[in-house]
Amino acid sequence: MRVALVSEHASPLAVVGAVDAGGQNVHVDALAGALARQGHDVTVHTRRDDPAQAEQVRTDAGYRVLHVPAGPAAPLPKDALWPLMPAFADALTVQLATLRTDVVHGHFWMSAWAADRAADALDLPRVVTFHALGTVKRRHQGTDDTSPPERVAVEFAVARAADRVVATCSDEVRELGRMGLAADRTTVVPCGVDATRFTPEQDATPVPARTRRHRVVTVGRPVPRKGFAVVVEALAGLPDTELLVVGGAGGRGPEPELDRLHQLADRTGVADRLHCVGQVPRAAMPALLRSADAVVCAPWYEPFGLVPLEAMACGVPVVAAAVGGMLDSVVEGVTGLLVPPRDPAALSVALGRLLADPDRRARMGAAGRQRVLERYTWPTVAGATADVYTAVLDRRPRAARPYRRG
Ligand code: UDP
Repeated sequence: MRVALVSEHASPLAVVGAVDAGGQNVHVDALAGALARQGHDVTVHTRRDDPAQAEQVRTDAGYRVLHVPAGPAAPLPKDALWPLMPAFADALTVQLATLRTDVVHGHFWMSAWAADRAADALDLPRVVTFHALGTVKRRHQGTDDTSPPERVAVEFAVARAADRVVATCSDEVRELGRMGLAADRTTVVPCGVDATRFTPEQDATPVPARTRRHRVVTVGRPVPRKGFAVVVEALAGLPDTELLVVGGAGGRGPEPELDRLHQLADRTGVADRLHCVGQVPRAAMPALLRSADAVVCAPWYEPFGLVPLEAMACGVPVVAAAVGGMLDSVVEGVTGLLVPPRDPAALSVALGRLLADPDRRARMGAAGRQRVLERYTWPTVAGATADVYTAVLDRRPRAARPYRRG
C-alpha cells in the first residue's frame, strides 16, 4: 500500500525531548519505518519549519519525509498552527495526488483535519490517531490549556468522518465514547517500542555516575502535566536515592518547568539528589533507563506513554500513575506498580518498597521485557496498523481500491 502519515507539528526528523517534540515524533518515525520494512511505500507529511529543509528527505529507515509548506518556514508552537491548516491541507492534497496515495493516516487533531480535507478532495480512505484528546487536556489543564477553542469540536468531527479511529489504549476508547463516538468506530492499536535497541543488555554508552545507593529516572518533555514535581516531592521520603530528570530543550531557550523543579527541590531539602540531565539523544536513552533501579512515570494524565514501554523493554520496573495508556501497559504487581496520580505520598511509599526489594525489581523487570515482546514490538504494532488500512480499503467500492492496481 502507498501510505501517507500526516503529522503537522511532530516531524520524525526532529530532536525529541523539548516542549513540543516527544512521543508523537518517535511514534511516527518508528511506525513509518516498520511499515516500510513490511513492504509498504510510506511517506510522512510534516510542516516545513526550517528554510534549509529539502522538500523531500529519504530516511535510512526506508520511508520518505515530504515537507509541507504552510506559513513561515520557522518553528512555531503547535498551538499556533491551526490558522495555517487550510494552506497545509491544500499543499498536502497536491502531494497525495502526486504520490497516488492509497490511504491517509492523520496523527493529532490538526493533521487529521487536514488529512480529512485532502482525502475528501481525492476520495481516499482516512484513518486517525489523536495521540491526545482536547477534552482530556481541557479537563486537566483548565485555563492553562492553550489549544485553539475549536479543538474539541474539530476532533469530534474528524473522528466521525474517519473510516476508522485508531485509539492507542482502552482508556482512549472510553474517552472517545464520552465524546459521543460509538466504540465500534475505533480499533485499539497500541504504540510500540524498538525492542532491539531497548534491551536489558548493558552496552558501552556512558551514563552519569551514580551518587546514591538507588537511582530513579523519570523522562519526558518538561511540562507540568508530566508530573516531575510529584516525583521531586516523593523524593523527600526516599533516603539515599537520587532522581534523574531527563528531557528539555538542550540549552535552546528557557526551561521554566526545570527551574520550578529546582526551586521545589530547594524547599523540600532534596536539591543535592535531583539531577536534571536535560535532553538525551535517542541512542543514549536505553543505557540511561537501564541505569535506573526504577523508572517513574507520574503524569497527571497520559494518552499513551512511550517511556514505560522503553523501560519495560530494558527490563526495568515501572512505577506509574494509574492513568491513560499506563492502565494497559503496566501490569500492577507484575511489571511494576500503579499509584494514584498527583499523590507524592503514595508514590513515595510504593517506590520505597520496591527499592528495598531487589529480587522483586528483577522479577518485574523480566516480566516487563516479556510483555513488550508479546505485545509492543514495532513489527506487531505496524502489522496491526496495516490490517486497519487493509480493512478500510476493502470496505470501499471495488473501483476505488487503487492499492489493488495490477
Ligand atoms: N525522549 C528522548 N530524549 C529526551 C526526552 C524524551 O528521546 O531527552 C523520548 C522518550 O524516550 C520517549 C519520548 O521522547 O520515546 C516521549 O514519549 P512519551 O510518550 O513518554 O511522552 P510524550 O512526549 O508523547 O508526552
